[in-house]
Amino acid sequence: MSERTLVLIKPDGVKRGLIGDVIARVERKGLKVVAMDLRTLDSDTAKLHYAEHAERPFFGELVEFITSGPLVAMVLEGPRAVEAFRALAGATDPVKSAPGTIRGDHALEIGENVVHGSDSPESAAREIKIFFPDRF
Ligand code: ADP
Ligand code: MG
Repeated sequence: MSERTLVLIKPDGVKRGLIGDVIARVERKGLKVVAMDLRTLDSDTAKLHYAEHAERPFFGELVEFITSGPLVAMVLEGPRAVEAFRALAGATDPVKSAPGTIRGDHALEIGENVVHGSDSPESAAREIKIFFPDRF
């Protein structure tokens, strides 16, 4: 049973030259990249993507950061892809994410934690529609 997840290499990851590192980990794990695009988000798209956080105090910062430069959006496919990528990414707070994970190896600040991965198959379907409306 295959599943899809929406992954972003956030602007900090792109700026720091981590596109290759992230994709290498994804492919080494066995997840398949089935769509990919480098783009800079506009503010409306960013707000839609992060709608669940609209009332949080860090929402403004989050939208500002995610629109601050190009990011890589991709769709991954594989068995339990949602959970599999979240495990590769590590905990949201990079100080707490295990060494060996993307965030654990590359980040210190919660606001600049290199990657996004959908948190459920339902979120994945919603987010994939935002980033790749005509593809799936
Ligand atoms: P995740 O990206 O692990 O799914 P969340 O969905 O909870 O985490 O939050 C979305 C993003 O918002 C996080 O990846 C992080 O960049 C940012 N964020 C979360 N909590 C905070 C916080 N307390 N302060 C600043 N930024 C935050
Ligand atoms: Mg989340």
